[in-house]
Amino acid sequence: IDYKSHPVNRDLQRFNPVRTKENTPIEEPNEDEVLLEMACVGICGSDVHYLVHGRIGDFIVDKPMIIGHEAAGVVCKLGKNVKNLKVGDRVAIEPGVPCRVCNFCKEGSYNLCPDIIFCATPPVHGNLRRYYKHAADFCFKLPANVSLEEGALLEPLSVGVHACKRAHIDIGSNVLILGAGPIGLVSLLVAKAMGACKVVITDLLQSRLDVAKELGADATFLIEKGMSEEDNIKKIHELFGEAPNRTIDASGAQASIRLAILGTKSGGIAVLVGMGAPEIQVPLINALVREVDIRGVFRYVNDYADALSLVATGKVNVKPLITHNYKIEETREAFETAKTGRGGAIKVMIHCK
Ligand code: NAD
Ligand code: ZN
Repeated sequence: IDYKSHPVNRDLQRFNPVRTKENTPIEEPNEDEVLLEMACVGICGSDVHYLVHGRIGDFIVDKPMIIGHEAAGVVCKLGKNVKNLKVGDRVAIEPGVPCRVCNFCKEGSYNLCPDIIFCATPPVHGNLRRYYKHAADFCFKLPANVSLEEGALLEPLSVGVHACKRAHIDIGSNVLILGAGPIGLVSLLVAKAMGACKVVITDLLQSRLDVAKELGADATFLIEKGMSEEDNIKKIHELFGEAPNRTIDASGAQASIRLAILGTKSGGIAVLVGMGAPEIQVPLINALVREVDIRGVFRYVNDYADALSLVATGKVNVKPLITHNYKIEETREAFETAKTGRGGAIKVMIHCK
C-alpha cells in the first residue's frame, strides 16, 4: 500500500515498516464497560482512507492509531456495574460512545454529540485487535442465529437503516440509490425490508450492479461516460415508470448528488450519505422550486437494535456482502484487497482469532 507519502506514515516506517503487528497492554474495563475478545472486524472505506491519506477532512492522524470500527466480539470480563451482559455473550459493537449529557445526547441525537468517542476516528483507537474494552450499553448481544460476522456488519447496516429512516421510506416508495458499494447495498436491503415497492440502483461498475441485482434490486442503471445528465435522468425515470420519490446518494460524487436532486420527484426526499469533496456544485434552486427535501445522514442513532432485528428475523441477509476473509495476521493483504477492490471485493472481513 502506498502510504509512504503521508508524514505520519513516513514516521511510522522509521520504527516499523509494516506496523500491522503491535503489542499493547490488555486494558481493564471501567465499571460500566466490558472487555471483549475480538472476533471479526470489517474494513470500511474510511479505514483505507486513513491508512492511505492520513486524514479525512479535519480528522487528522498525527500519531499512530489502531484502525477498525465494524466489529463484533465475545465478552470476557465485566466492569462491576454491568448488568446487561455476561461473560461469553457474543456482541456487536456500536463504535461511537457519546457523552450522554449534552443537549444532542439528551434529545436523542447522540450521533451529533460533539464529544462522541468513535473507534478509529483520530485520536481514538479502533478495535482491530485481540482485546478491546467498550461501554457495555453500546454492545448488542447477538442471538444464537446471528453470526459474529453478521454482528460486525451491523455497523454498515445501521448506516443503511438510518438513511432509510431519514428518507421516510415506506410501502409504495420508489427508491433510487446512487452508488452500489457496501453502503448503497445495505440501503437497498433496508429499503426493500421497509416495504419500498421499487428500488433502482446505479454505479459506474457493472460488477457492483450485478451484486445489487442478486441482492434484490428491481433494476440497475450503469452510469457511462459521455451520457448527459438529462439522458441519465430520463432513462432512470423510465425504469421506474415515473420519477422516484425517494433518493439516497451513497457515492459522494458530484454527478451523483446532482442526479439525486434533479431526479427526485417534486415533493420527494433526497438523502445524502456519500461523503466526497467538501464543496460541490448542485442545482439547489431546482430543489427549492420543486420542494425536494435534501437531508443529511451522519452514521446512525438508535439504529443498531433495528439493524439487529432485521438480521435476526431474516428480513435482510447481509452475508453476501462479505466477499473476502483474512486472519488478523494477514491484515496487510486484507487492506490491499479492500483498497484495490481486487477480486470483486465488497466487504473484506478480518478474523481476530
Ligand atoms: P464505496 O466507495 O465502496 O462505494 C461507492 C460506490 O459509488 C462505488 O461502487 C463507486 O463505483 C460508485 N460511484 C462513484 N461515482 C459514482 C457515480 N457518479 N454514479 C454512481 N455511482 C458512483 O464506498 P461505501 O463504503 O459504499 O460508502 C459510500 C459513501 O458513503 C462513501 O462516500 C462513504 O464515505 C460514505 N459514508 C457515509 C457515512 C455517513 O455517516 N454519512 C457512513 C459510511 C459511509
Ligand atoms: Zn453528548
